[in-house]
Amino acid sequence: MRDPTALLGARLASELQETIEAIQQAGRAAATVELDQSSIGRVSRMDALQQQALAKRLLEQLLLRQRKIEAALARINAGSYGLCCACEGDLEPERLGADPAAVFCMACAAERERPE
Ligand SMILES: [Zn+2]
Repeated sequence: MRDPTALLGARLASELQETIEAIQQAGRAAATVELDQSSIGRVSRMDALQQQALAKRLLEQLLLRQRKIEAALARINAGSYGLCCACEGDLEPERLGADPAAVFCMACAAERERPE
């Protein structure tokens, strides 16, 4: 017997673990410049600041991903997983296969991505 929601839930749980580890790494990278500020030259400091800005942006993306995964896991617990958050229709299995944390069905996602 195969329960697709249980399989996707397991994928979400392991992705959450990976995301949390990546957040800790990015957090350290984003904090590095503050620690090293006095010990490095001006050019390498600009470089380090750029690296830090990238790490901060990555960190924001990862935190967003973490929230999305946690919300999907909460929907599994609540029994509302696999339903579109806009039209409450079923999410396409291939959409959940591509992103188990997907929130909207293809039609609603396309609707939202369209410019005003
Ligand atoms: Zn929808």
